[in-house]
Amino acid sequence: MTPDFGPTAPLAPPIHLSAVYRIPDLDAVDAIYNGQAPGYIYARDGHPNATILAGELQRLHAAKWGVVTGTGMGAITAPLLAMLTKGDRIVSSNRIYGKTTKLFRVEFEHFGISTVWVDTNDLDAVKFELTKSPTKVLFVETISNPLCRVADLPALAKLAHDYGAKLFVDNTFASPVLCRPLETRADLVMESLTKMIGGHSDVTMGFVCGSDAALHIPIASATSTWGLAANPFDCWLVTRGMSTLDLRMRAADANAAKLAAWLAEQPAVRRVVHPSRPDHPDFELAKRVLPHGVGNMLCFELSDRDAVNRWMRATPEVPFCPSLGHHETTCSHPDTTSHRFDPRDEKLGQGITPGLVRLSVGSEPFERLRAAMEHGLRAIA
Ligand SMILES: *Cc1c(COP(=O)(O)O)cnc(C)c1O
Repeated sequence: MTPDFGPTAPLAPPIHLSAVYRIPDLDAVDAIYNGQAPGYIYARDGHPNATILAGELQRLHAAKWGVVTGTGMGAITAPLLAMLTKGDRIVSSNRIYGKTTKLFRVEFEHFGISTVWVDTNDLDAVKFELTKSPTKVLFVETISNPLCRVADLPALAKLAHDYGAKLFVDNTFASPVLCRPLETRADLVMESLTKMIGGHSDVTMGFVCGSDAALHIPIASATSTWGLAANPFDCWLVTRGMSTLDLRMRAADANAAKLAAWLAEQPAVRRVVHPSRPDHPDFELAKRVLPHGVGNMLCFELSDRDAVNRWMRATPEVPFCPSLGHHETTCSHPDTTSHRFDPRDEKLGQGITPGLVRLSVGSEPFERLRAAMEHGLRAIA
């Protein structure tokens, strides 16, 4: 039974856990299927908490439509399943999330969809690949892991469209607070909501959105049919986390820039990697692509693996968790986690050394973070 709220209404959104909906009659079911009336039938196809969350995210990205998925990987997989077929070609950045690399290299290869890898910071190299062979999708991340290379999204959108490809952007490291790629003509934007947007490390979810209305139904349909849909409670958790996204992202971004400057002064630190630093290769590009802040991810390098171990043990306030986007600072170690299975020479060539620590800077008071970092660095001096 639905409770009688009278003239009142809950301020916080309710959680609608129902997997299936009762429909009054056959005319009503026709109207819902035909899109002539609102309503829900089965939760894999849609439910109120997915509608609420997708609406919020769609607004942040100024998108025409958005679809939520059970994981960030689901948000990358669904559009590719919906739009690509045997014989199609993807041109991808060679610095993308490990599981996305595996998705392209292993899973989509099974279906006869091939991927070529290119340094997308080299626009001539991108152009060369796009001219070489017809390409369906150019795939990039706004900010790469872990060295925070920034993608020149307006230039990449133009290049993709000049050669008949669509630009897909994984915007997870930036979030819509710092970057809205649809505004510079990206075709699709994906977010892992598990990270900064959810913000509390208690849910895995993803989101994909776009401005071409024709792509909505095929992608929503692939999400349901391939079993990539999100459940109501997870949507509710992300909706709740999102209410502080803007505050958290801005605070974390400011903390990261301050911490990067502070780390650069510390004798135990050999190198700091953050696009707010003039020595970062994308310092100038970042000002243009990310004018509201360059993000909360940064790396710093200690002498070797042993120094990292000692620093970790001396800095329990910054837990070692191979993920990102928590509301407080966490650290990771690319060499043994995200890039564990990459060839050693390739890693070293990119600058991913055994001494490199990645921080996902949080929104805690800066002084607390700085004190914890100082204590840990003193322990290894
Ligand atoms: C975490 C992450 C993903 C995958 O998201 P899940 O929610 O873990 O499936 C994709 N891209 C980037 C950049 C990520 O950081």
